Amino acid sequence: MINEKKIDEAVEIIKNSNNIVVFTGAGHSTESGIADFRSEGGLWSKFDPSIYASYYYFLQDPSLFWKMHSELEDIVVNAEPNPGHYAIAELEKLGKVNAIITQNIDMLHQRAGSGTYNDIPIYELHGSYGTLECVKCDNEFHYEEIDTKSVEYPVCDCGGFIKPKVVLFGESLPPGVLEGAMNASSQCDCFIMAGSSLTVSPANFMPSIAKKNGAKVIFINLEHTCMDECADIFLKGRTGVVLSKIIDKYKISSS
Ligand code: NAD
Repeated sequence: MINEKKIDEAVEIIKNSNNIVVFTGAGHSTESGIADFRSEGGLWSKFDPSIYASYYYFLQDPSLFWKMHSELEDIVVNAEPNPGHYAIAELEKLGKVNAIITQNIDMLHQRAGSGTYNDIPIYELHGSYGTLECVKCDNEFHYEEIDTKSVEYPVCDCGGFIKPKVVLFGESLPPGVLEGAMNASSQCDCFIMAGSSLTVSPANFMPSIAKKNGAKVIFINLEHTCMDECADIFLKGRTGVVLSKIIDKYKISSS
């Protein structure tokens, strides 16, 4: 059961905010049919991330990563944005959101329209599946240009291994992205976290950065996180359901 009183409090905070940062994790895309990797039946119960999602092992034998990728690609390509993604895009349209920070690699924020209404940045901390890159010469490719299906793993003309521009364990975050996300978090007046266990660093630094700099912090998650002390309001529930409710109430109370 959603706590209506807490929803009203969140709406009040959003009404009084002009610089909201939204931070999303894997839980935000579960309503789009992409399981969070850690749950039972999730990707990592089949593929040990310390091997299949490790940059070190990718460089030893890229076929391990590409075995996992073939399963993940279908899930990501067939997923559609859910009401939570559209609610965030709607908040941007209303001029409330100044940045989105996501740990997700699925590009569903962009597909819901985020980044197009007020040209706000979307910081993809762990990269995205949208493009591929050669780890040796840094050349970028689109999927149409590279045969990823009939080979064990794709190789660039320079001899380097090719992988999607996602961040594997042991790999650095894309240049500038972490700095952008930290700046946005330190400058916002409201920080909304949706669907993350907040166990992955440095992504999980963001809520405390926002809190320390005076932002109101709202957490929306199915279960408690290890950083709940940062949250002014903790809304337990599905992000799609909770965010849609917040938008509906916001519009009614502002009309
Ligand atoms: P996580 O799997 O560690 O935690 C997800 C959290 O979301 C859990 O606390 C869970 O209870 C909660 N949750 C699940 N469904 C929910 C829903 N509908 N509404 C509200 N809460 C819900 O996720 P994380 O913290 O983002 O870390 C996972 C890592 O794996 C990230 O680095 C991310 O890059 C990657 N990942 C990405 C995707 C994607 O792109 N969609 C999917 C899985 C994992």
